[in-house]
Amino acid sequence: MIKELRDARLKGAKAAYRILDMLEARDRLKQTYGQVDVFQALAQLDIMVMFKPLDGLLGAYLRGSPPGVLISTKRPHSVQRFTAAHELGHAVLEHEPSLDTPDVLRRAASGRFGGIGKFAAHLQEVEADAFAGEFLMPRWLLAHHAALQGWSPRHFNDPAVVYQLSLRCGSSYDATTRALERNRVISSSSGAALRKVKPKALKEDLRRDDKSFNPWSDAWIITEKDQTSSVKFREGDVVGVHLIEHAAGGYRWIHSAPTEMTPLSDRTTLGLDIGAASERRIVFKCDHAMHGKLAFVEKRPWESEGHNIDFSVEIVGPEEGLSSATRQRLVQR
Ligand SMILES: [Zn+2]
Repeated sequence: MIKELRDARLKGAKAAYRILDMLEARDRLKQTYGQVDVFQALAQLDIMVMFKPLDGLLGAYLRGSPPGVLISTKRPHSVQRFTAAHELGHAVLEHEPSLDTPDVLRRAASGRFGGIGKFAAHLQEVEADAFAGEFLMPRWLLAHHAALQGWSPRHFNDPAVVYQLSLRCGSSYDATTRALERNRVISSSSGAALRKVKPKALKEDLRRDDKSFNPWSDAWIITEKDQTSSVKFREGDVVGVHLIEHAAGGYRWIHSAPTEMTPLSDRTTLGLDIGAASERRIVFKCDHAMHGKLAFVEKRPWESEGHNIDFSVEIVGPEEGLSSATRQRLVQR
């Protein structure tokens, strides 16, 4: 890589860590569902965010007072988050205004520029791209989720694990493989092998009971390990809850789900040995926005109390017009 490109990547990454520190993003992980909340960051820095059905554009950064960012509604949430972080990068690095097409972002990621005389503009894009990558997936965020889930580097050779990590970080599967590679958690050949798998294939198992799925929706697997952190789903997502069940001893999980979550299927996989624990797999569909609790209790039918597992969950719908974080910021002022 030529020196200018390497310097541009470094500059973008450094700026990302500076802004993350300034906004105390790491200390606020619990309130932000284990993700870096880029829309809140934009609002905190007084950059207006507007969601619009843009054609051919992922987003744009407009200078002015106040500066503004446009995000296309015609893209899945993980792409919107990446675009927002890219536009935040333009703002923080005091770049020229930028209209970002899928092509511009692809070239920035690959380091190829679009022709003679365009090198300065291309460097801006490389800086903003490096900013977005580090901002949404800093090393400490990968470490945070790995520790919560008990994942070690070898787990990240499994596409299904990388997909579940991407959901927890609020990033795309592809961006997650690159973050793991950048941080040398996996090798570049592993990264390339992971990218040959398409997220669609990883969602299929959980979606088989959902006849009306939206291709942009995601398929989560949550376990006992997710009960310490709150989880944020999107309308249309399917959620498989996998819990160890001591069926041989007469125990059974009973759930109480909010009305906005519809149970789709309920299966038990038996343990191989006699008396071994089995796994209960209950799949829910997130139908409508809500904030509440998905509660489970494992007990024998004749007992009144048992082992409780509660998940604190939020379901959110798509954004349109001014971002909810921008609206909140305007009210506060
Ligand atoms: Zn750009």
